[in-house]
Amino acid sequence: MNIQEIIKILTDAGIEPNEAEAEVKLMVREICNWSPIDIILERPLDTSKLDTVNEYAKRRAQTGRPIQQILGFANFYGKRYRVTEDVLIPRDETELLVEKALRIIFANQSKTILDIGTGSGCIACSIAANSETYVLGVDISSDALRIALENASTLNLNNKAVFRKSDIYSKINPNEKFDMIISNPPYIPEGTPLQKEVEFDPKLALFTKDAEGLEFYTKIAEGAADVLNPGGYILFECGQGQAQKIKKILAVNNFIDIEIDKDLAGIERVISARIL
Ligand code: GLN
Repeated sequence: MNIQEIIKILTDAGIEPNEAEAEVKLMVREICNWSPIDIILERPLDTSKLDTVNEYAKRRAQTGRPIQQILGFANFYGKRYRVTEDVLIPRDETELLVEKALRIIFANQSKTILDIGTGSGCIACSIAANSETYVLGVDISSDALRIALENASTLNLNNKAVFRKSDIYSKINPNEKFDMIISNPPYIPEGTPLQKEVEFDPKLALFTKDAEGLEFYTKIAEGAADVLNPGGYILFECGQGQAQKIKKILAVNNFIDIEIDKDLAGIERVISARIL
């Protein structure tokens, strides 16, 4: 059994060759503690560890489950996050949202951030780890919050990233105010046929009840004035084709300076604005 044979297990299961190679290299790196140089030099692998990689690859091939759920973690913004089937697997695009947030935070010396639908806590923890802010992550799912809390503890962010069960603003006290609201909310209309990439993500993290996937953007924007400090910011990640509609929602809710940023695929992905 060698690496090429393990890659073949994945390609035989219909996984793209590039993706299969990347996944096997990730497994080898994580399970065998290999560095990229070890991989390039194809150093011999300890058989028992190779057996483990083989087992993981077989599980991946048989179930179609994403590699992050099989390994139990995902890498995001330079850190490792525990993931289970109770949380959305952090996506590369979301790193753009974090980057935009950090730029605004530094420019405005923002101190308090509210992350709505925190899931694994990846946004909350990335912001807390890279700025002098206090981040409150809220979620309706207790199971997700347990994972977020575990991630914050592992990253030593217990005092900077805190978590609370709340249905959007339901458990935010009237005297709590924030300099920024950030969210990567569910944005897929319920009933949309599931694409392979999201098949194993929790439904709660994906779906909206309305036909356009705008339910959460609307709810968050409508209640934002009550929790934002004057001049506070709102930042959303959005799905393909939604940015212009969200721009309108923000405009009618007294937001100005609306900016839209594209992801690497050229899709309008991040929208930000400031409350009047
Ligand atoms: N905030 C988390 C993330 O961006 C979870 C988002 C969600 O579950 N919709 O990965």
